[in-house]
Amino acid sequence: MRLVVVGAAGRMGRMLVKTVAETEGTTLVGAIDREGSALLGQDAGTLAGIGALGVPLTDDPLTAFARADGVLDFTMPAATVTFAGLAAQARIVHVVGTTGLSEQDFARLDAAARHAVVVQSGNMSLGINLMAALVRRVARTLGEDFDIEILEMHHRMKVDAPSGTALLLGEAAAEGRNIALKDRSVRVRDGHTGARNPGDIGFATLRGGTVVGEHSVIFAGAGERIELTHRAEDRGLFARGAVKAALWGFGKKPGRYSMADVLDIAA
Ligand code: NAP
Repeated sequence: MRLVVVGAAGRMGRMLVKTVAETEGTTLVGAIDREGSALLGQDAGTLAGIGALGVPLTDDPLTAFARADGVLDFTMPAATVTFAGLAAQARIVHVVGTTGLSEQDFARLDAAARHAVVVQSGNMSLGINLMAALVRRVARTLGEDFDIEILEMHHRMKVDAPSGTALLLGEAAAEGRNIALKDRSVRVRDGHTGARNPGDIGFATLRGGTVVGEHSVIFAGAGERIELTHRAEDRGLFARGAVKAALWGFGKKPGRYSMADVLDIAA
C-alpha cells in the first residue's frame, strides 16, 4: 500500500515515516509538511532518524495524494479538514489521528467519508480501545451512584485539552450510561463549584515533561473505587495502529470508521 504522511516533520509524523518504512506491505510515497516550513526539501527518512528514503518533504499534498492509496494524518484540525477533502477527491484512505476536532470538523470528515474511507480515532492503540470497551461495560453495570472522573497527563508541548483519548473514554462512559457526554461533562473546576452533580463525568488535565500519554478512568462509589489506567510508553504504539488502520481500510467501502472497527472490538 502506497502511503503519504502529512505533518511528516512532527513528533508523530516522524514516527509514522519510520513505521511505514519498517512495515511489510507499505511504502512511503510522499511526506508533506506546512507551507513555509524550514524543513521542506529534506529527506523524510533522514528526519525520522532512519536514513534517506528518497522521499523529500514537500508542501504539495495534491501531487502526493494522486499517486497514493492512503494518507496518515496526525496534524492539526484546520489541516486535517483540508486533507480530508483532498483525500476524498483522490478516493484514498484517510487515517486521522489529529485530536481537538470540533463538531464542524467532524461534519467535514463525514462529508469526505461519503466518497472515501476515513478511519478516525483519538487513540490508535489496542490498549486504549480495549479500555474504552471496558469503561463502557463498567459504566453500564454500576450506574450513577459511582461518580466517573477521567484523569490524563501528557507532555508539555500538547496543545489541546482534555486529550482526544480522555474524550474517547468519556464518550465510552456516557454510552454505557446511555447519556450524551456533551450534556454531562465537567471539563474544568475552579473556585466555589458547589457539590458534584450525580451523573456528571469529570475531567482533569495534567501537562508536563515528556509524558507520552497516561489516562485513568475512576469510578468512585461509597467506600470503594475502581480505577482503570493505561500508560503509553512509546509513540510507536500509535503509529503502528495508524498503519494497521490504513491497511485495514484499503478496499473497504467509503464511510467513517473507528479503531474499534479496525481492531474488531465489540461495543
Ligand atoms: P506536532 O509535533 O506539533 O506535529 C504536527 C505536525 O503537523 C507539525 O509538523 C506541523 O507543522 C504539521 N502541520 C500543521 N499544519 C499543517 C498543514 N497545514 N500542512 C501540513 N502539515 C501541517 O504534534 P504531534 O505531537 O505529532 O501530534 C499531532 C496530533 O496528533 C495532535 O492532535 C495529537 O493530539 C495527535 N495524536 C494522536 C494520537 C492518536 O493515537 N490518535 C497519538 C498521539 C498524538 P509545524 O510544526 O510547522 O506547525
